[in-house]
Amino acid sequence: MTQPTATTDTPLLNLLGLSHGEMVQFFDELGEKAFRAAQVMKWIHQEGVIDFAAMTNISKALRDKLARVAEVRVPSIAYQGESKDGTRKWVVETEGGSLIETVLIPAENGNRRTLCVSSQVGCSLDCSFCSTGKQGFARNLTSAEIIGQVWIATHTGGAYADGRKPVTNVVMMGMGEPLMNFDPVVAAMKLMLDDNAYGLSKRRVTLSTSGVVPMIDRLGDVLDVSLAISLHAPTDELRNTLVPLNRKYNIEKLLDACHRYLEKCGDTRMITIEYTLMSGINDQREHAEQLAELLRNIPCKINLIPFNPFPGSGYTKPSRNQVMRFQQWLFEKGYSAPVRMTRGDDIDAACGQLVGRVKDRTRRQARYIQTLSIDAD
Ligand code: SAH
Ligand code: SF4
Repeated sequence: MTQPTATTDTPLLNLLGLSHGEMVQFFDELGEKAFRAAQVMKWIHQEGVIDFAAMTNISKALRDKLARVAEVRVPSIAYQGESKDGTRKWVVETEGGSLIETVLIPAENGNRRTLCVSSQVGCSLDCSFCSTGKQGFARNLTSAEIIGQVWIATHTGGAYADGRKPVTNVVMMGMGEPLMNFDPVVAAMKLMLDDNAYGLSKRRVTLSTSGVVPMIDRLGDVLDVSLAISLHAPTDELRNTLVPLNRKYNIEKLLDACHRYLEKCGDTRMITIEYTLMSGINDQREHAEQLAELLRNIPCKINLIPFNPFPGSGYTKPSRNQVMRFQQWLFEKGYSAPVRMTRGDDIDAACGQLVGRVKDRTRRQARYIQTLSIDAD
């Protein structure tokens, strides 16, 4: 960063997505003390204040200086809704007009509220059963657009009767493959963990990946958040047809990367294995038995997600009985695998319609509400 000057053609720096280290550097280049970083971060992320003029523990002179070189720009909300089951959803307009979705899902027992955050507009990895994949890839989100989703859910959803933070857990399980947008995702996740920002524990922040092996290693070098792997199949032959990335990084390479990640975490952490059940594809007894065998040496918990249908997918959801049979087969092999039900269907529909009215080209974006499958403490 060069010394900021107050010219009209210098774009204002958006402070929303800066990690603590970047914020310290920004203040240093302004000739200001490092502790200002924490002060401003607390205003932005904890108090929800984005107007420098309202940051009252900062001198008027510095507030004016900040306003000349920087801003706090939160993505705008195109739609906001609440489902009968308490699920809240925001359609967020990113720079350039693309729309993404953020969903806050309360646990049935009231213990947590999990925010499902998007990392990209669309996704390039084209998994055969995923509606995001079918839309193709538009662009990566910036760290401000990623953490902006947490800001919005924290500061625009209203208070909760239990008086706790609106967002208790975050899963990077919305639109996009987070490990294909590495630096912005890491910067945003650092803010989720930072005590000057959202202060969530590393066990309550989860990154879900379809298996970008080199990036799992890189992630383990800089963060120790919880890791979820979208496995969906117990053999390479089957996984190749569902997750094309498997042709590059097969199951063996992926599970090796999981071991390395857990070693770096150095605690009692487990990997979450996500397994989306599709009727007649991966929901038979042989699949359950192969899965149990495959995961024998990995500290993990399995989450079963009944396939969420969307038009033209070519797959169907297994019956409830079949899901329970699959669960039972895993149980017989020593795994208790919770089944996650879809939440918030009613606002999903309403929201899809609204997005269709707002911007034609995003009609295909009407997608399922993500089933949230993380049982962090
Ligand atoms: N790209 C990352 C994170 C976003 S997808 C990943 O693939 O892990 C989040 C989860 O939703 C993944 O486990 C994904 O496989 C699953 N998913 C995608 N489409 C689905 C569908 N139609 N029904 C049920 N789960 C789906
Ligand atoms: Fe991308 Fe994940 Fe969908 Fe695959 S499942 S296309 S990686 S968002």
